[in-house]
Amino acid sequence: MSHILVVEDELSFVEALRVGLKREGFFVEVALDGTEALQRFKRRQPDLVLLDVMLPSISGIDVCREIRAMSTVPIIMVTAKSEEIDTVVGLEVGADDYVAKPYRLRELVARIRALLRRAEMTNQPAGTTPEDAVLQVGGFRLDRGRHEVSVDGKAVEVPLKEFEILALLMQTPDKVVTRQRFMSRVWGSDYVGDTKTLDVHIKRLRRKIEPDPLRPERIVTVRGVGYKLTR
Ligand code: CA
Repeated sequence: MSHILVVEDELSFVEALRVGLKREGFFVEVALDGTEALQRFKRRQPDLVLLDVMLPSISGIDVCREIRAMSTVPIIMVTAKSEEIDTVVGLEVGADDYVAKPYRLRELVARIRALLRRAEMTNQPAGTTPEDAVLQVGGFRLDRGRHEVSVDGKAVEVPLKEFEILALLMQTPDKVVTRQRFMSRVWGSDYVGDTKTLDVHIKRLRRKIEPDPLRPERIVTVRGVGYKLTR
């Protein structure tokens, strides 16, 4: 049974979601504000987070950023009006999908199922990478158990930090991985110092995997945000 964390402060929505999602076969956990959401998320890693943008105490935007810094769990953000979606998307907080109020439960459930399927297809429980996982994206293949990387069938020697950077990019192909996320996942959440080290590692990685490292087309820079892997 998939476990969904619903973060919502409007009680009428909370009740409708609790009943509606339960009926669809989901296990529903509710947090009424951002602080509670983060506490609950850390305690019991859900399979998906449905996150309202307008929340008391910590905003949904900040909750999303914090969750992203520690997990790849699918996140759907809920905005008050459809016009707000563009604004929220523009902030690049790392959500996987967006819905605007008022939404139809049937549409929401379809999106939830699509995201859960996608998370399953990456062949790992949401939010974790097993020690022996093999990731395959486009021409890239990364074998964690053997610490091997190949590009278009050709083996490439990749030291540990670059290996972890590539693994992170391959978990969410075509999607930007933020600088904060690289730092917390590859260097640890207690890393203090310049994030320039990330760019240095990316540069080295590009020299190994890009046909033309000066015009990268596989690891693409998203200015001011981070990097993404294209297929
Ligand atoms: Ca709200």
